[in-house]
Amino acid sequence: MTTYNYPDQQGHFGPFGGSFVAETLVHALDELRAAYDKYRNDPDFLQEFHYELKHFVGRPSPIYHAKRWSEKLGGAQIWFKREDLNHTGAHKVNNCIGQILLAKRMGKPRIIAETGAGQHGVATATVAARYGMQCVVYMGSEDVKRQASNVYRMKLLGAEVIPVSSGSRTLKDALNEAMRDWVTNIENTFYIIGTVAGPHPYPAMVRDFQSVIGNECLEQMPAEIGRQPDYIVAAVGGGSNAMGIFYPYLDQADVKLIGVEAGGEGLTTLKHSASLNAGQVGVLHGNRTYVLQDEAGQVQATHSISAGLDYPGVGPEHAWLKDSHRAQYEIINDDEALQAFHDCCRIEGIMPALESSHAIAQAVKMAPSLPKDKVILVNLSGRGDKDMHTVAEYSGISL
Ligand SMILES: *Cc1c(COP(=O)(O)O)cnc(C)c1O
Repeated sequence: MTTYNYPDQQGHFGPFGGSFVAETLVHALDELRAAYDKYRNDPDFLQEFHYELKHFVGRPSPIYHAKRWSEKLGGAQIWFKREDLNHTGAHKVNNCIGQILLAKRMGKPRIIAETGAGQHGVATATVAARYGMQCVVYMGSEDVKRQASNVYRMKLLGAEVIPVSSGSRTLKDALNEAMRDWVTNIENTFYIIGTVAGPHPYPAMVRDFQSVIGNECLEQMPAEIGRQPDYIVAAVGGGSNAMGIFYPYLDQADVKLIGVEAGGEGLTTLKHSASLNAGQVGVLHGNRTYVLQDEAGQVQATHSISAGLDYPGVGPEHAWLKDSHRAQYEIINDDEALQAFHDCCRIEGIMPALESSHAIAQAVKMAPSLPKDKVILVNLSGRGDKDMHTVAEYSGISL
């Protein structure tokens, strides 16, 4: 499909990526790599993956012309890739299905995951229920409190949610605990990572599963407008929805790729999550990438109005796409994302996730100064029902 051939055998994207893990995990990762190499081009595996995407997730997701909004803006035409219409309401389930099918073939009946806001935990609990597998989700005890409805959702789906009360009681502590579990239970346990981060092979594997997004666009755009878009815009937290839509377009040089990081309250405030724009190269969660860290190398606390973008690192392939100038990475702050959220509700009748609202805000910023025949395709990574309380709170409304 694409001539782009990263990563190398060791999982390097240029100087980024790789596998920086404790000795005790090396065997588990070798086993996973071998299994993924075996099944990634296996016709039975791919057939089952695509069957599930069609019948369980509801793919292909449509592309949609945001016509009224484009007219109002008076410039380029904005299109949405509707990942919000997937079962569970976002793109994350695509990857979870790929990984659980792999777990099944590897004979691992127990699934673990870590989650911050709970979105990845819900997607994992969903596929675990679908396949009748045991599911354990680690979550910082602070996040358990903040995301009570997602915790209940996971429990309804049959998952066990384990609150982690070490450290800052958030995502990074949950991650450490999940790693510890994996080391201890390697024989029967598969660790589903939710974005294009972690040690090799996760960044490449998650990208490949999410590439269904871009591969559909490759066919849908010519069918609707007779050609490919001029720009593709996607929000970047860990970077999986962006890699999913970018990857099939990497070798099409005239399609410009734009990732959008969360500027939070602004880059000068330290209350942001813009790892590519404001981070330094370091090692986080088993790979080398851009990381928000202080001078002593301590990982910084991050902030974004959207929980899914609130991550101090970024997938190593994005670090490489930035440094090799194949993609550019812009910043949208909380206020701009909120404005895009409200406008999208009113003008298009679509309530986008706050993560996706960052990508939409970027497109809205670009459109007016571009000619009317230019096309911007935005990855609308998820729906915004989950964010209603956050939006209300910012508007001073109590629900
Ligand atoms: C989790 C999430 C994101 C951010 O994760 P990526 O790995 O960067 O895609 C973006 N949008 C939605 C709707 C999410 O749930």
